[in-house]
Amino acid sequence: MRLTVIEGERAVRLLLVEDDRELAHALADALDRRGFSSDLAHGFDDAEQMLRCAQYAALILDLGLPDGDGIALIRLLRGRKDPLPIIVATARDSIGERITGLDAGADDYLVKPFDVDELAARLGAVLRRQGSFMGARLELANLALDTQSGDLFVDGAHVLLSSRERQLIELLLRRAGHVVSKQLAEDQLFGMTEPVGSNAVEVYVHRLRRKLQATSAAVRIEAIRGVGYLIRRAQ
Ligand code: CA
Repeated sequence: MRLTVIEGERAVRLLLVEDDRELAHALADALDRRGFSSDLAHGFDDAEQMLRCAQYAALILDLGLPDGDGIALIRLLRGRKDPLPIIVATARDSIGERITGLDAGADDYLVKPFDVDELAARLGAVLRRQGSFMGARLELANLALDTQSGDLFVDGAHVLLSSRERQLIELLLRRAGHVVSKQLAEDQLFGMTEPVGSNAVEVYVHRLRRKLQATSAAVRIEAIRGVGYLIRRAQ
């Protein structure tokens, strides 16, 4: 099954700092499938240079780097008041090390090995919190979502949504043309801790489809069996 039809998509650009090249590439591929495009840096100096040259939506940072410590990079960024969202992804798993990372200014802390869906969900949360996804307006065909206010428009007409319907359409639009896994949708809609019924996401997909069908929305929400959902332009 091929799932790579993209149209009008604006990927979120990340800097992924990881000296284990194999892991870095695997992670970048997995994130790419979730709508995040990554630049790779394999050391402290590379990362610092890339951060000077390019704008990123977020930084995913390994701490043990061959030419420096990731914590120092966090301190450097925060020292110059850079608000870039930072998620630490490291093998350092003690409470003390977590506290050090968060105290230095990381927004979140993941211990290896971690699940890519969890990283993607945390990225989404951090980016939403900081309002720093690329652009506050997400558009696909005649649909436009103002991510600040949460207002959805079809051909300029407002569509009233519940808060979970809004979260769902935002998640789908951010990865327009890419499959959003059911697991990720559950995490984003219901949080990591709340127990979720097995068809909870389906219920919201169904409601959202109904609302969109009642408008002239030129998009389709497709279910990919056993995988998840994707939104695309209607043909
Ligand atoms: Ca490392």
